[in-house]
Amino acid sequence: MVIYFHNPVRKIALILAFLFVVYSYWSYFNSSQRIQGRLAQLILLIDPGHGGVDGGTQDQFGNLEKDINLQIALKVREQLVASGLKIIMTRENDTDLAPFRSGQRGRHRRDLLSRIEKARFNNCLFLISIHCDSSVARERRGAVAFYNYRSDESKQLALLLQDELNKVQQAPAKAAPGKYLIIRQSGVNSVLLEVGFLSNPEEAKLLQDPDYQQQLAAAIAKGILKYCQKYVPAKPSDCG
Ligand SMILES: [Zn+2]
Repeated sequence: MVIYFHNPVRKIALILAFLFVVYSYWSYFNSSQRIQGRLAQLILLIDPGHGGVDGGTQDQFGNLEKDINLQIALKVREQLVASGLKIIMTRENDTDLAPFRSGQRGRHRRDLLSRIEKARFNNCLFLISIHCDSSVARERRGAVAFYNYRSDESKQLALLLQDELNKVQQAPAKAAPGKYLIIRQSGVNSVLLEVGFLSNPEEAKLLQDPDYQQQLAAAIAKGILKYCQKYVPAKPSDCG
């Protein structure tokens, strides 16, 4: 088809419209590449709580928290890697980070400190620790994001994570300040996620369902990505 332009004004308008469309496409691809590049410079540490000799809490059938934490954490990693983030893990299998040594006390504390040290050493943007909760009140359920009240970054991420988790779970919960050792360390921004209660039989079953785990993992990944889009500056040199 040949289009003849008898009207020069119309011709110019069409050329300008064409150039505008080309420019829009170019700037869209350019900005999405910039975001990809920015994400690739960030390192996150995902921490499946417990492991090895430390099983964590358990459900009524003896299914251990450490296994569920790991299954969810690996799914979170998969999602985030697909989005271009650099992810390291405190553990990728059933192990702990401070083996039992006869005569040496404080294994649990040494284990937690070596997880934190891993985040420090790798200069991670965040340490995200994944756990399951337990309560004598069997009706208690729901995922909660705990933050370090002294860290604005920790709180902002926890709020975004909670928003996403609330879209997955039955009843919404509120992000809360936590007293856990792993989120109270200076120099490391951490959030601890209690993804549900193993003491609640119904939620314990859900937490072991791969589909539900996937939904939780997607929510966690989405919260992290939202934080990056909102708060992480375009140039790494702008990081505080
Ligand atoms: Zn735990």
